[in-house]
Amino acid sequence: MARYTDAVCRQCRREGEKLFLKGDRCYSEKCAIQRRAFVPGQHGQKRRQKSSEYGIQLREKQKTKRIYGVLEKQFRNYFKKAERQKGIAGENLLILLERRLDNVVFRLGFASSRKEGRQLVTHDHFTINGKKANIASMLVSIGDTIQVKTGSADSPKFQELKAAGAYKTPPQWLEVDIENLTGRVLAFPTRENVDTAVNEQLIVELYSR
Ligand code: SF4
Repeated sequence: MARYTDAVCRQCRREGEKLFLKGDRCYSEKCAIQRRAFVPGQHGQKRRQKSSEYGIQLREKQKTKRIYGVLEKQFRNYFKKAERQKGIAGENLLILLERRLDNVVFRLGFASSRKEGRQLVTHDHFTINGKKANIASMLVSIGDTIQVKTGSADSPKFQELKAAGAYKTPPQWLEVDIENLTGRVLAFPTRENVDTAVNEQLIVELYSR
């Protein structure tokens, strides 16, 4: 399975903003963006050159891919799918990304980051509607129930989560029952539900070139 191998915090430094890829660390003083707010590499501390229109669009696409942990080919496929759907392509793209199982696990508060969500999913800790769900890119649908597997629920990770109670409020389109380590999809997300700092129109413009 292809994945990013670049050091996680370098990705934020490359984009010049926090992408929240490392869970709790991102909210602490250890965050690399706070300590080294410049582009990684030998010339990183030189002043950033003014970007062209193309450069700005490209960076927005790269940033979005990094936030959701998706590689180029898959990202482009999401965009093609988004274009074929009714409505605004950019919004459709974000909604598709939000519906990914690794993102949903993160949004439900079962993982501290999408990266951890992806790891938990691929390590086979969840079911959807009682069926095996170990592919991070699976898209959830309305009415789906995402549950921590019975065998996994006894692990320290999930027992601690239960003891602590839900540590984050899920977005409106999701519902969490932390006691039963279960989440439900109440609706498809809307653009307003997506709090990721992304200008999706720039991505549409990039792919329309
Ligand atoms: Fe990005 Fe989090 Fe690393 Fe900070 S700690 S640079 S927000 S991944």
